[in-house]
Amino acid sequence: MYQSLGIDEDIYRLGETTAAALADRFAEIDRTAEICQMKVIAAMQKNRVSTECFETSTGYGYNDLGRDTLEAVYADVFHTESALVRAQITCGTHALSLAMAANLRPGDEILSPVGKPYDTLEQVIGIVPAPGSLREFGITYRQVELLPDNSFDFDGIKAAINEHTKLIEIQRSKGYLTRPTFSVAQIGELIAFIKGIKPDVICMVDNCYGEFVETIEPSDVGADLVVGSLIKNPGGGLAPIGGYIAGKSEYVEQCAYRLTSPGLGREVGASLGVSRSFYQGLFLAPTVVASALKGAIFAANLYEPLGFPCVPNATEERHDIIQAVTLGSPERVVAFCKGIQAGSPVDSYVVPEPWAMPGYHSEVIMAAGAFYQGSSIELSADGPIEPPYAVYFQGGLTWAHAKFGILMSLQKLKDAGLLPGQA
Ligand SMILES: *Cc1c(COP(=O)(O)O)cnc(C)c1O
Repeated sequence: MYQSLGIDEDIYRLGETTAAALADRFAEIDRTAEICQMKVIAAMQKNRVSTECFETSTGYGYNDLGRDTLEAVYADVFHTESALVRAQITCGTHALSLAMAANLRPGDEILSPVGKPYDTLEQVIGIVPAPGSLREFGITYRQVELLPDNSFDFDGIKAAINEHTKLIEIQRSKGYLTRPTFSVAQIGELIAFIKGIKPDVICMVDNCYGEFVETIEPSDVGADLVVGSLIKNPGGGLAPIGGYIAGKSEYVEQCAYRLTSPGLGREVGASLGVSRSFYQGLFLAPTVVASALKGAIFAANLYEPLGFPCVPNATEERHDIIQAVTLGSPERVVAFCKGIQAGSPVDSYVVPEPWAMPGYHSEVIMAAGAFYQGSSIELSADGPIEPPYAVYFQGGLTWAHAKFGILMSLQKLKDAGLLPGQA
């Protein structure tokens, strides 16, 4: 089968030996998925999820049982007082923007104690001037870089917290950076430190790509708000749109009033037929995340021995589903992405090219043969065309597909004569 799909025998064999050596780590990932699966089932049972919950609402969406019950389920999965889970939250950036805009007022300051936030947040916050940014509303921003060893600069953070500091933005995943992703335990330490200085500050965690990678979430270690996208981990590949915000009631309520309108809040917002996908996606999410994690670890163990630095490296523990592989040249980034595309179930015949995508500052090449546009819990890769020419990839609804896509990326490098020792 692999041969007929275009994988050479040497690439296939390398894949087999690589995967065979990972059995113990894969067993550990399955164990985490099992615990997370039980968390989801427990939350669904506790909230009496029933077939009525899959009914849809239209128009204003008053009394939508499915939507309201799902929000209770999310709150229980994340062990929070409340959650907002809506199709009207269009993506992860929107969810984060909403959480900040809803809870900040003119004169307040945001602090990122972990360096630069995700690219798209630069315009949300106004680090890069943009219409409608928080900066235009008199909300200021400050960031403290990580120390050279990527640990938290506790002294710097202490010095940066002032009377205006209202919200702390902690990004769990590395996003497009080459720093490591933080573990939930590390995030807990950081929050405890910050609350020790200013107890009433809102600690918000950008949880994108982190959900269900560990058995606990940032909300288990003191985060006041956790925020993420349903076309990533918690949507399980089935949610066609959406975002979530889970946390303390007072902060989540603010988000509801900001999302819809003061006075209306969470009472409106028709589910338009997506509820079943939201439930089923959440139900599948723990095992889907496990597949994606296996793919990421497999890739690191395939590429690192070939001389391509990987973050996380081949042996490190995982805290999100993203794998960065530094390929060292634009041609290799393009070939890698072509391989991921060629291995996809959908749009496999399409050839991706770099383009100036809105919200990103260099050209980016993106590969995704996905059932949902931009779905990055499905196997997908993106590479900004800039040094060090790293490709970031993530996802894989099934481990078999993740494995195949990654083998195909290597095949495309080989076909283009771009592997070390070829030339
Ligand atoms: C994907 C991502 C976002 C933004 O989510 P979109 O759905 O792409 O808008 C924000 N932060 C991190 C860490 C992400 O990975």
